[in-house]
Amino acid sequence: MRKVKIIATLGPATSDPVIIGKLMDAGMNIARLNMSHATHDWIREVVKTLRAAAKARKSTIGIMLDTQGPAIRTGDLPIALDLTPGQKFTLTVRGERSEETHSVDVNYANFINDISVGDVVLVDNGSIHMKVLAKHANQVECEVLTPGKLGSRRHINLPGVKVSLPALTSKDLADIAVGLEVGVDFIALSFVREAKDIMQLRAVIEQSNHHPLVIAKIEDQLAVKNLNEIISNSDGVMVARGDLGIECPYEELPIIQRKIVKACLRTGRPVIVATHMLESMIQNPMPTRAEITDVANAVYEEADAIMLSGETTVGKYPVQCVEVLDKISCRIERSGSANFHEKAELTSPRQKLVKSAVVMADELRAEAILVFTVRGWMAKYTGWMRPKYSTIYAVCETWSVADSLSLWWGVRSLVTEFDHEHPEVTVDRAITSMKESGKLHAGQTVVIITSMTAGTQFVDTVQMRVL
Ligand code: PEP
Repeated sequence: MRKVKIIATLGPATSDPVIIGKLMDAGMNIARLNMSHATHDWIREVVKTLRAAAKARKSTIGIMLDTQGPAIRTGDLPIALDLTPGQKFTLTVRGERSEETHSVDVNYANFINDISVGDVVLVDNGSIHMKVLAKHANQVECEVLTPGKLGSRRHINLPGVKVSLPALTSKDLADIAVGLEVGVDFIALSFVREAKDIMQLRAVIEQSNHHPLVIAKIEDQLAVKNLNEIISNSDGVMVARGDLGIECPYEELPIIQRKIVKACLRTGRPVIVATHMLESMIQNPMPTRAEITDVANAVYEEADAIMLSGETTVGKYPVQCVEVLDKISCRIERSGSANFHEKAELTSPRQKLVKSAVVMADELRAEAILVFTVRGWMAKYTGWMRPKYSTIYAVCETWSVADSLSLWWGVRSLVTEFDHEHPEVTVDRAITSMKESGKLHAGQTVVIITSMTAGTQFVDTVQMRVL
């Protein structure tokens, strides 16, 4: 069974309930909803579709709402503009779009102060370069350096500039409110710059009855500088390579990716490697050799999840992309790994108990580790310790905990009724039902992590059983 999890971003190519079902059957563990493009009505609809499809399959699905964050964007254009090198192009701020055809509004009032004549502005994921020629009042006059088609609401990167937009814009707050209303499992915070940004999101979540996990997207130089404080304040981290590869010198990207994956495996935070994993499959049915190797590298590093963006939002082959990730991952996982988890810094007795259970499972070559978990912690620790041979089954009491575990490496969740007075009844019930559904078989060795009664007390225990 594949250990690394697959995240697929949904969009126009994958909104249909039939396609969503096919993505799940192909191995999508988490659906990502990108608020840079999605509307609130669509979010409400697609979340219903996802939950219904998971229920029909009696399986989990994680849902991640990804905020737009403090991104500098161009405004709307009536039609996309063909830009050619040498052309003059004007960027205007404060909503005073010039009447010229070769002009677009920018959503960031400080844009003029943050750039200088001679700087190169990178538009649309760095595909269009413009050189700043002059600044007048609210207009920045540029010369187009590289050809490209400029559509509406394209992202502008200013590498190394501390953009003074708030961590949570009014759009983000409205989008998060919808995410909390529909009960998403994860909120990914874009352009996190420091731990304070995450605390702001946590304060918003605190006021709600629903508490999704917070994923910090590392996408610029400031986030890399503040990496440790960001990781320790987040529930998980995304290596958002799309922006990171523009905001930092691109030759640094593999080093930064490895540094983030190592830091997450040291501190026990799940880590997602995102963007351009199968970019060529937006158009083609086969990945390039370089893409296969990039996916293999993330799997070898034992990232918790790998992510598709354009490949599944607008690509021609969304289901095939999930199948390709599944196929590469299963093969690479059989071939060994970087073992970064060996540097895990365990801080609590419960983490150390789980570590001993995983050592035991490795020694026994146990088929499975069954973790009975109310809030998910013991299952998360088990995934973090990266057992070598055993499938991790998290036996949960609620679907919301089971869905939230969809991000953790190797953890497969199922839901059963818990008998809190008699934990051994819960264990027997789960084993019987897993045998009936073919997940476990007589004669197999399993390691069980659960609480048990000891006199009047409940204690965490690790057991070995031959079924
Ligand atoms: C990225 O930059 O890699 C990313 C995942 O963020 P977004 O798609 O929101 O730009």
